[in-house]
Parts: sequence; structure tokens; C-alpha cells
Amino acid sequence: MTAGPQSGERPVVSDAEAGFEVGEDFERFSQKDDVFCRSFWDPEVRTSRSDMFYETYRTPELRWRPVEGFTRRDYALRNASWHVTDLFAEFREGVDRREGFLDPYTVLRDGPGPPDESDEPEEVLAARLAVDLKTAARALGADLIGITGYDERWVYTHAYSRETETEKPQELPGDLGNVVVIAQAMDRKLVQTVPSALSGTATGVGYSSDTVVLLAIAQYILNMGYAAAPTMNDTALAIPLAIKAGLGEYGRHGLLITREYGPRVRLGKIFTNMPLAHDRPRRFGVRETCEVCRACSDACPPKAIAMDAPSDRVYNISNIRGVRKWTTDAEKCFRFWSNQNTDCSICVRVCPYNRDYSRRLSRIWRWMAGTGLRRLALWLDRLSGRGRRVAPDTWWGGTRLVGLNVAPGRGAQENRRKLRTE
Ligand code: SF4
Ligand code: SF4
Repeated sequence: MTAGPQSGERPVVSDAEAGFEVGEDFERFSQKDDVFCRSFWDPEVRTSRSDMFYETYRTPELRWRPVEGFTRRDYALRNASWHVTDLFAEFREGVDRREGFLDPYTVLRDGPGPPDESDEPEEVLAARLAVDLKTAARALGADLIGITGYDERWVYTHAYSRETETEKPQELPGDLGNVVVIAQAMDRKLVQTVPSALSGTATGVGYSSDTVVLLAIAQYILNMGYAAAPTMNDTALAIPLAIKAGLGEYGRHGLLITREYGPRVRLGKIFTNMPLAHDRPRRFGVRETCEVCRACSDACPPKAIAMDAPSDRVYNISNIRGVRKWTTDAEKCFRFWSNQNTDCSICVRVCPYNRDYSRRLSRIWRWMAGTGLRRLALWLDRLSGRGRRVAPDTWWGGTRLVGLNVAPGRGAQENRRKLRTE
């Protein structure tokens, strides 16, 4: 029985099948160069605004703005949505770990012993365990799940230490040959309110649900007698693994686009030695649609999304080298986030794949976008107004804040809020 490819080997699914174009000049990425890590150690990225951006997630004296979507209740909800994932991230900060963001999760119990003996052929065992794992994962709350092989190219060369603000060794064992990738759906109605602090709730709920589901699936694997390293934003790039695991395709905005939720997902992955049959990439016309659509690049306020064809251009050290693709300028994107004091997902909101696929019309639209009718599909999408922003007050149920005065330095008595039901 083997566990799949070992460290350095390539998995069964080829790059061509997944739509990857990886050049000779490819270089693996170190998490230290991720723009969020750079916002701590790199003066090119770290500013008083970026410090403030992080502070709004923690400090009670938030400087909320007198603009709907950025008021106290919006930040209160957004920060509450991050609470579970924050607890796990901060649990072992004393030993220089930020689990889920910079380090794998470790809050797991030991399994009860080695796996059961099996005389099944290797492929049969891997197929059976994969079916069981997917059934278990859905029961534990996974919205989407796929399986692929370990591919060292997407694993960060080094982890990042927040304490020393430099690289630290990658701790992933080299004998975990399979990767289970999950995607958790983000709330569509919250995403419709972006730009707003309120919309960041969709991100926080996605991460908190990712945390819970990743830990539960990893514990299932441990209980079955195998090893498991659950990881969220840490350890490896998620999107190439997700594409190979059949969860979706790559979009112009640099995000995964899934058939089931479009780009509205948060990803997590579990490295394991459980023998598992691999999934294959699923294409449904995203690349061809992105070639004729510019909804995200047109709508992006700082113009951080590529308007032209895929290329191996890099904007700064936060881009991986040697992969031909649509690349976003992470510095511009993050600066915009900092300046508006919350994360942004305008590119997700406007993307025509961002739909409710429980509706038949959305499924018909997706089918059209996968055929020669895609220009018509895009025209219909624009005509429908689907990607328009919904006012945060409308999301709150029609209550509006009137006469709000929240300028910093004013007393609480001055901050009169009059609720009016529309
Ligand atoms: S998140 Fe916002 S700023 Fe960043 S690429 Fe998307 S639209 Fe642009
Ligand atoms: S908005 Fe259009 S171009 Fe951008 S990722 Fe979505 S489909 Fe592709």
C-alpha cells in the first residue's frame, strides 16, 4: 500500500489537464513574501493605515465611519464572524504560532492506533476510503471537497514567523502524499454589500467555518489511523491544489471559480497519508469567459486586476514567478483594503459566476457561459443588474441610521442614532 506521491514527485493529474502553464523559470514561493506578511515586515507595504486596518479587527475603540456599511453594528458583526478562527489563530501565539494563517492547526487528539489491515488491492482501498472521506466531510459541514496528490511546487519554501518577522522552517512532513481540499461557501447577500465592513462578515464566517470543518475532517482521518495536517492560509498555495482536486477553475481576478458557488468560497487543505483516489480537474468554460469579460478588472477601484491576456509578468515579490496566468497586483489590492479599513471583494460581487445556483436560471446562465453563447450570457448578466451593490441598511432589514455623528473625538452623547424603518 502506498500513500501517493512522496515529496518532490509529481501527482497523477498533469499540468496541461489542469490548465497550468509553468515555465522553466518557476520559483517556489516563501510565505514571508505574501502581502499580508509583508504588511508586518516590509516598509514598502506597512503603513499607519495598514496598522489601523488590523486594529479594527481587535480594538474596541474602532473608528467607525459615518457611512452606512462602516458603522458600529457593521464592525461588530464582521469581528464577531472572525471570532472562532481568531481564537484558534491566537491560541498558541505564545510559542510563535498563528494557526490557520501562518502555521498548520495542531488542536487535535491522537488517533486510537494504526489503520485496519486490508487485503484489498491498492486502488480499491483508495477508492473506498475516498468515498467514505467525502461522505464524512459533508456530514462535518464541508460545502465542497476534492482530493489531489501532494505537489511540492505549491508548498511554501518557508513558513513565516510573526515574532521574528522573518522565515522559519516549513514543518510539513514529507510523507503526506495526498491533499484533501475543501471549499466553504461565503454568504452571497453579504458579499452583495461590498464595499462595506459588513461584507467582511462573509469572509469571517467563511474562515470560521473552514476552521471547524478542517479540524473535524482531520480528526476523522486521525481516528481512521492515518496522519493529517490541516492547513488554511498557511503552508501552501491553495488555488493550484483546488484546481487539480476538481473544485473549479482559475479566474482573471486571481480567485478560484467553482461551479457551485462561483468565486464565493474560502479554501482549506489537509495533507494526509491516507490512501485516497484522486479527483480530476473540471473545466466548465471559465477561462474562455474571462478572455471576453472584464467585469472584475473594470470594477476594481485600484486597478489591481490584469486587463490583458495571461502572462508571466510579476508586479512585485508577492507574485509567484514562472507561472503564466492572470496575476493581480497584491500591493495595490492591499493598499485599497487598508485605506477603506476592511477587506474588499468587489471583484467577487461583480463576477458573473457569483450567482445562486439553486436557481434554474443561474444554471442555464452557467451552461450558456460554457458554450459559444457566452457573450450573450455576459450581456444578459449586465442587463440584469445582478452584480449591483445592495445597500448595507437594506441587508440589515431596512433600518437606516440617520443623523449619525461618529467623527473621532466626539462624545458618545453626540452620536445620536435614529432608527427609521423603511
Ligand atoms: S479585492 Fe478589491 S481591490 Fe482587490 S483585486 Fe478585488 S476588487 Fe480589486
Ligand atoms: S468577472 Fe469576468 S473576467 Fe473577472 S473572473 Fe469573473 S468571469 Fe472572469
